[in-house]
Amino acid sequence: MHCHAEQAYPQECCGVLLGLRAGDVREVRAAIPCTNARFDSPETRYSIDPRELVRIQRDAREKGLEIVGFFHSHPDHPARWSPTDLDEAHWIACSYLILSVEQGRVAAASSFVLIGTREEDKALVDEALVVG
Ligand SMILES: [Zn+2]
Repeated sequence: MHCHAEQAYPQECCGVLLGLRAGDVREVRAAIPCTNARFDSPETRYSIDPRELVRIQRDAREKGLEIVGFFHSHPDHPARWSPTDLDEAHWIACSYLILSVEQGRVAAASSFVLIGTREEDKALVDEALVVG
């Protein structure tokens, strides 16, 4: 994931986190890099091709995993979500991991979980990121 973010710099990279759920905990087993489908402004936006997402989801099911989150990078910006990130986050109870890439190197990572029940009341809140 770090490599992918650094290679994509100064553009945003993005991808899907596959894993398992146990209650409110999401355990990530694999990070699948995706092509950033935002050709108009890949430095500040990202999107994942829905067809690629469907393929990843199908592959994950075959391995007994599910989509537990998404990641993307912020080239030369902090690892905090932007209003656009919230607008474009639609997977309730999934993690949104943001990597800050400064001068081509990953400098920080933060994770947020999308809470709420629908588009109108959704919110991104900080969550603990445990590596190990
Ligand atoms: Zn973002």
